[in-house]
Amino acid sequence: MNIQILGAHNCESQNSKLVSLLIDDTLAIDAGGLTSSLSFSAQQKLKAILLTHQHYDHIRDVPTIAMNFASCGSTINIYSTQSVYDALSTHLLNGKLYPNFLEWPQQNPTIKFTKIEPYKLEQIEGYSILAVPVNHVDLTVGYQVTSADGKRLYYTSDTGPGLADCWQKISPQLLIIETTLPNKYEEYALQSGHLTPNLLKQELTSFQALKGYLPQVITVHMSPSLEKEIEAEIAAVAKELNNSITLAYEGMQLHL
Ligand SMILES: [Zn+2]
Ligand SMILES: [Zn+2]
Repeated sequence: MNIQILGAHNCESQNSKLVSLLIDDTLAIDAGGLTSSLSFSAQQKLKAILLTHQHYDHIRDVPTIAMNFASCGSTINIYSTQSVYDALSTHLLNGKLYPNFLEWPQQNPTIKFTKIEPYKLEQIEGYSILAVPVNHVDLTVGYQVTSADGKRLYYTSDTGPGLADCWQKISPQLLIIETTLPNKYEEYALQSGHLTPNLLKQELTSFQALKGYLPQVITVHMSPSLEKEIEAEIAAVAKELNNSITLAYEGMQLHL
């Protein structure tokens, strides 16, 4: 399984994209930095997009990628929860901001949207996909992706602490987890459903206690202006836990 980090941050600039992961060039998770990172031909290789929750930084490129597919007369499969469907159809693809690609063209809509249920294993484009809820807004799900040869990653999406129930359901070799803020903003992180390096340490400690091992850890969704501080604090956590924890960056390639 080849994993490319298209976007690794929670704020966008020329060098910083919103969170998007690309697996084997065909399966994307979250759509913060899809069209801004991929050429038209790379976009056409996409077979499915999994969305974790409705916050704009995770769904931003759904209208733009749908527009690109519509202009080629092709369709794109999107999988997510009912609440993401509702947010897309009400606020973005509502015929005012963008055409309603969920229902247009009438005979063959550009977006084939499939609703997923938490804890229900789905077979999507050759991968086993398990949506497992985390602690963020409404129903936010992370995705465990298992390839045909048994390689497994779990991406948390945005989440606050308290992931013990989630850890019970998954067993990844690679954990892609958010760390939005440095330790000094813990109170704000807790209010807004995000993690700091200290909170990450607690969650990884709970993972190890429950599962008996620690996976390779990659962090995403960092605030660019605070990244140096986050990086130093994460290095301390990695040392303490004696485990590999690396901050993701745009264009990072991982292989499982
Ligand atoms: Zn969010
Ligand atoms: Zn976010």
